[in-house]
Amino acid sequence: MTDYTFKILVIGPAAVGKSSLIRRFVDNEFSFQYKFTIGVDFMTKNIVNNLNKNIRLTIWDIGGQDRFKILLRSFYDGAHGAIVVFDLSRPFTYSKMKDWISNMYKIMQKRIPIVILGNKLDLVSEIGETIDRNDPYKYAEKERYFYLETSAKTGENVDIAFTEITHRILDKNY
Ligand code: GDP
Ligand code: MG
Repeated sequence: MTDYTFKILVIGPAAVGKSSLIRRFVDNEFSFQYKFTIGVDFMTKNIVNNLNKNIRLTIWDIGGQDRFKILLRSFYDGAHGAIVVFDLSRPFTYSKMKDWISNMYKIMQKRIPIVILGNKLDLVSEIGETIDRNDPYKYAEKERYFYLETSAKTGENVDIAFTEITHRILDKNY
C-alpha cells in the first residue's frame, strides 16, 4: 500500500549527471556512456521512511537542451520537490543551475522544496577545486535549500539526496 506519491524533478544543465544520479538511486548502476536524454523520462522507486510510511517517488528527468523547453510547463506541473544538479568539475554549470531554479519558479509560481547537488565529487580529487566549495553551502543556507556534494559514480550521498527531498516535502519545510 502506498501512503504518499511524490513527483520529484531532477533539473539542471546538460551532462551534469542528472540521469546518472537517477540510475544510481533507482538501479544502483553507473556507466560512463553518455546517453542523451531525449525529451522527458521518468522512473519510479518505492521507499519506506523513518515513520514506516510507504512512499512512491516518481522521478522526472528532462533533457537539458533548449529545444525541449516547450515541454517544461507540463514537466513542472504538480511537482512536489526538485533536485537541482550542477557539475563540480565545470564551474559554469554552478551559475546555470541558479537560472534553472529561477526559471522553474517563474513557470510554477510557487515555492517547492529544493535539494541542490554538486555532482561528480569523485573528479575533484583528480582535477582540484574549480569553485569555492563553501559557496554552494552559503547560497543554499541563504535560500533555505539543502546542499550536498554527490557522486553518481561512487554513489556517495545519492540516497541521502532523495531521502532529504522526501523529508522536506513531508515536513513542508521550504
Ligand atoms: P545529464 O545530461 O545531466 O543527464 O548527465 P548524464 O547523467 O548523462 O551524465 C553525463 C556524463 O557524466 C556521462 O558520461 C556520465 O557517465 C558522467 N557522470 C555522471 N555523473 C558522474 C559522476 O558523479 N562522476 C563522474 N566521474 N562522471 C559522471
Ligand atoms: Mg540526461
